[in-house]
This record gives sequence, C-alpha cells and structure tokens, in this order.
Amino acid sequence: MKQTTIERIINFSKNRDWDKFHTGANLAKGLAIEASEVLELFLWQDEPTSVDDLADELGDCLIYLTYLCDKYKLDPDTIVNNKLDKNERKYPIDKCYGKSTKYNKLS
Ligand SMILES: [Mg+2]
Repeated sequence: MKQTTIERIINFSKNRDWDKFHTGANLAKGLAIEASEVLELFLWQDEPTSVDDLADELGDCLIYLTYLCDKYKLDPDTIVNNKLDKNERKYPIDKCYGKSTKYNKLS
C-alpha cells in the first residue's frame, strides 16, 4: 500500500477524533467483523455475489489492518515479508508443490 494511502487512512480517524475509540480490542473486533462481511458474500456459493461489494469489504479489512499496524508501530511491508519468510520455511516448494497439506503433515 502506498504511504500516501496509509497517511490518508490515519488522518481520516485523527481528523474525526476517533483514535480514542481505537483500542487494540476494538480494532481486532472491527477487523473480524469486516472479514465476516467478506465471508458473507460467499455464503452458499463459490464466487462472491458482487465483486464491487467484495472490493468494499476488502477495503474495510485493509483499513482496520492499517489502524492495527499503526497502533502497534508495525510496518506492513516488514511484517508481511517476515511472515512470508516463515511460510517459505514451513512450505518448501519441493515438499508442498501442488498439495494443500498442512505444513506439519508434509513428508
Ligand atoms: Mg464492511
């Protein structure tokens, strides 16, 4: 995500004096609720009811993720790359290629 977009998200809250509502718990609950709204678009079907609605709900999730990263001084690029490093170690290509097996069941 571009730095200007991150700053826009942060300023959206600051300009409305909403940061006081952004406890870790509230932000985590907000993220989970928005993730559920993504899931709702797939209820009883394999594709979303609307890609426009999917974009809206994914946007909500990214906004909450940005607030969480900002609150705990986490750099999104760093944490994603750190997690990918871990996932690459857990899922070596030669053991998991084309398989959906969980890492602890790979042989
Ligand atoms: Mg939403």
